[in-house]
Amino acid sequence: MSEKRGRFGVHGGQYIPETLMNAVIELEKAYEHYRNDPEFNRELMELFHEYANRPSRLYYAEKLTRTLGGAKIYLKREDLNHTGSHKINNVLGQALLAKKMGKTRLIAETGAGQHGVATATAAALMDMECVVFMGEEDTKRQALNVYRMKLLGAEVVPVTTGTATLKDAVSEALREWTARIEDTHYCLGSVMGPHPFPMMVRDFQAVISREIKEEMKQKEGRLPDAVIACVGGGSNAMGSFYHFIEEEEVRLIGCEAAGRGTNTFETAATISTGKLGIFHGMKSYFCQDKYGQIAPVYSISAGLDYPGIGPEHAYLHDTGRAEYVPVTDEEAVEAFEFLSKTEGIIPAIESAHAIAYAMKLAPTMGKDQIIVVTVSGRGDKDCAAIARYRGEDIYE
Ligand SMILES: *Cc1c(COP(=O)(O)O)cnc(C)c1O
Repeated sequence: MSEKRGRFGVHGGQYIPETLMNAVIELEKAYEHYRNDPEFNRELMELFHEYANRPSRLYYAEKLTRTLGGAKIYLKREDLNHTGSHKINNVLGQALLAKKMGKTRLIAETGAGQHGVATATAAALMDMECVVFMGEEDTKRQALNVYRMKLLGAEVVPVTTGTATLKDAVSEALREWTARIEDTHYCLGSVMGPHPFPMMVRDFQAVISREIKEEMKQKEGRLPDAVIACVGGGSNAMGSFYHFIEEEEVRLIGCEAAGRGTNTFETAATISTGKLGIFHGMKSYFCQDKYGQIAPVYSISAGLDYPGIGPEHAYLHDTGRAEYVPVTDEEAVEAFEFLSKTEGIIPAIESAHAIAYAMKLAPTMGKDQIIVVTVSGRGDKDCAAIARYRGEDIYE
């Protein structure tokens, strides 16, 4: 495979300071051992089933299908997982691995707070110390999730450098890891960063496409024609795509956050507007200014508000195996409202980006065709922000 030594084509790698090398090599060795360890995998499956509520449902959205009048739409319900998103899949895997490695402390970065809450949850369950780095701006925007993390026993450290948002929280977590390799594991939240993170996080999230395949076989007796997921760093999309990569007839579509539009500076659509670069330990595509500095990005969705994309997605884009499409704030908000009204399912605003593209694509396809859309999380956390977007102030 192209992922030898953490490379996906020209992308990936381990572009990290000398001081972090030992930690990354220790992790790489441990993961190489435990990924093939039957006992590790048995324990992880048990956590998935008993704690995280897996397998998640593959739900036939009949009313949505009828209303759009084209391809049959199934929703992969990651929103029904414990803690309300796909993040728990990766976190349980990494926390279990850290425990096996003898680590007693988890650190994590978080943007909207979903990954921080999932990490704090796993730390509580597995009796580990937990410190979450969060941009100061985000701690103000996501006060409820800050409270949740503290309730779960985590310490939340506001990061004031740079734009005081997600990318700065990642940088700070990498710095902290360098300072405390002995007892600390850095639980990274997406398919990004230095090898082995992109591969390891993808493996833990691949449970999504493994289940979709089985559930499709039971319900339809065949593969879907397209799988659609939203892309921030790209973990729910990578998990949704992985077991379909070899099935060439299945279209794989990642939906990026275009924000106010890819022709504006207020966007986070990396494939549409980014260039090849090196940041946060990996080579991939990044939104950059004319000097090659990482550009400030914007999306209504805090979970997609990252200036890069995981290296395996960059590779799937280069080879043409997957397609990446921009979806604006306005389109996502319309999809957020539409799915709520037609199916009684309030999706995360991140997931609404994938729904929005399905709403465009489905009517262009035949009634005998099938689309699977991953609903990466639930939308309770977004209600106040969407109300505000529509000019209404509700109590948060
Ligand atoms: C964090 C998050 C995302 C974006 O992260 P990916 O790594 O791209 O999946 C998408 N949806 C939800 C609900 C999230 O919490």
